Amino acid sequence: MFGYMAAFIAIVIIVLWVFQIILLDDIYKGTVKTETKGLAAAITIAAKLEDQGFRDKVYDMAAGNSSCVSVYEIKGGVGREIVNAHSQNLCIIHSHMLNESFLANLYANAKNSRVYLEDIEGFGNDNGSILCAKVTEIDGYDLLVVVNTPLASVDATVKTLHIQFGFITLILLMVAAIMAYIISARVTRPVADMNNEAKKLALGDYSVDFRGGEFLETAELSDTLNYAAGELSKLDTMQKELISNISHDLRTPLTMISGYSEVMRDIPGEMTSENMQIIIDETKRLSTLVNDMLDLSRLSGGSRKLNKTVFSLTECVSATIERYAHLCERDGYTITFDSDGDVAVEADEILILQVIYNLISNAINYTGDDKRIHIEQKTINGNCRISVCDTGDGIPEDKLPHIWDRYYRTGDFHKRAVSGTGLGLSIVKNALVLHGSPFGVSSTVGAGSTFWFELPVFNTDED
Ligand code: ADP
Repeated sequence: MFGYMAAFIAIVIIVLWVFQIILLDDIYKGTVKTETKGLAAAITIAAKLEDQGFRDKVYDMAAGNSSCVSVYEIKGGVGREIVNAHSQNLCIIHSHMLNESFLANLYANAKNSRVYLEDIEGFGNDNGSILCAKVTEIDGYDLLVVVNTPLASVDATVKTLHIQFGFITLILLMVAAIMAYIISARVTRPVADMNNEAKKLALGDYSVDFRGGEFLETAELSDTLNYAAGELSKLDTMQKELISNISHDLRTPLTMISGYSEVMRDIPGEMTSENMQIIIDETKRLSTLVNDMLDLSRLSGGSRKLNKTVFSLTECVSATIERYAHLCERDGYTITFDSDGDVAVEADEILILQVIYNLISNAINYTGDDKRIHIEQKTINGNCRISVCDTGDGIPEDKLPHIWDRYYRTGDFHKRAVSGTGLGLSIVKNALVLHGSPFGVSSTVGAGSTFWFELPVFNTDED
């Protein structure tokens, strides 16, 4: 930071040096030339106006410009001085140099050009002077205006500037050091601190706290990094939960399968169809879990494309309910279906079947002691809404947004009538998002939940 500031100061000093010291002489000379020419022009104009106070005016103008001025009337080749303003000691006009031949030469040069300008070096003092001659015609005769401005020495100024620049450089370097310290305290240090925290985060320490300091950009960066750390921490927790969920879900059926198989092998008379059924059920449970994981990874990974066909949504719901007939009979569940007619939709039948299956599975899993599940089909404004209602404990409002996340579970109160993987609603969400279909849930704690989704009705008349 200090290096950059010192470089910036060096550039500023060099630019100042070039303009103030190296070019000072030329700039000063140019300014004096312009002023001298301007004075000659102003005197010519004043003469043309035939002003009564012309002489006084010339004196004033000469003094104002620190110049010496002589004005001549040239009549019949003979020059007569009409004004002589003497404001400088070492000038050409009032020296031996301005003899008749010099004047004649000056007149000839001025007559040939609009204005004659001569840079006279080393006269009187070492600095030289600027001589300007201008001729103008008044009432048939020529008026010659000669202006001489001695140049002042710039050496003293340059010396002063040298000393000043030395001090200015020192002061600026000190200011740069202080500013570099302040800026680094406010910007560089928070960035360095954030870098250290980021390294800790990379090693898996999610308790990191990024502090961005006072600057807007670093403060925003620290907010973003804190947010990222929070999300990574959540992901880590979810991953750990996932491993424990999966291992639990895989272990339970595997233990059952191996246990029952051993019993059937070792104990005579245990080779019953009931025991075989348990092994079959547990195997199915295992394959459901594995299938759910595969489905979800395909859906959320974007590799699953929609295969849309026209099919009856009503029949789809009825068929899914039919799959639970055995469970209803065995465990006393009641599933009712209220439909407002046979509705056809154009969608991916396999995915929609899975959505309905998962919603009914959850309803069975979480419904209340009355073991009732009600499914409703209603068509409003060309959209068919399927609602799956249960009478369970409901879902607290703060947990509602999270239930669609993969491996999210609100609690350990599963009744486990059907297997739960924590993936069901995530599959539902991904499938419906892929269709662009609206979906949602309304739930009252203690009264039950209603999960719903909508699909546009396929109208054959449209074709
Ligand atoms: P799970 O296999 O645990 O049912 P889901 O993704 O299907 O996984 O559901 C996620 C969580 O949402 C469940 O663990 C449960 O807490 C909650 N949930 C889902 N459906 C219902 C419901 N009908 N009633 C109450 N809670 C529900």
